[in-house]
Amino acid sequence: MPTELFSKYPGLEKASTLVELREFIGDCQRCKLAPRRTNLVFGVGNPNADLMFVGEAPGADEDARGEPFVGRAGQLLTDIIERGMGISRAEVYICNVIKCRPPDNRNPEPDEVASCEPFLFRQIDLVRPRAIVGLGTFAVHAVLKVKIPISKLRGNWQNFRGIRFMPTFHPAYLLRTPGDKRLVWADIQQVMKYLGMPIPHRGGSAP
Ligand code: URA
Repeated sequence: MPTELFSKYPGLEKASTLVELREFIGDCQRCKLAPRRTNLVFGVGNPNADLMFVGEAPGADEDARGEPFVGRAGQLLTDIIERGMGISRAEVYICNVIKCRPPDNRNPEPDEVASCEPFLFRQIDLVRPRAIVGLGTFAVHAVLKVKIPISKLRGNWQNFRGIRFMPTFHPAYLLRTPGDKRLVWADIQQVMKYLGMPIPHRGGSAP
């Protein structure tokens, strides 16, 4: 299990379960997003999931409920998982790079990413999924540390610490550009194939 040589947060690597990691994060005041959040949005789902979804940051609905992907984009992600993949949302693990809502839905800033990403990387180490789906430019760039456009990366397997990583478009983008749902569905089908999941025969159309 990879651990950082010099941890930004001493003791983080001792958190050996998601519950311990959540306790370690505590009432986080490590970055400037803390004062305006309602809830810290840690992550939900199966702690032993084969599949993990990583998004950008909580929006207003997620901040209010303390759960990732529960707004409109979240409903689309849930449809992709439940109607598309044919599994329940509780079977996968879902989280974000940034655990607190950026004000006015602005993009997270580099210092906020630097503060929060050790928690995401520890979550990945602890869940140890077989595959990760990176949702949208921000999450994909934050995890892979590349600047290649998502339109070029999507659909092409990447590697994160020995785990298969599939970049795809963010569900919020799909709400604005529904014509690209078929591309995300193609990416998800690659993930399902890798995980040995049966692909539903409904004409292979997007959920
Ligand atoms: N968008 C994200 O990236 N994450 C969420 O939790 C909700 C919307």
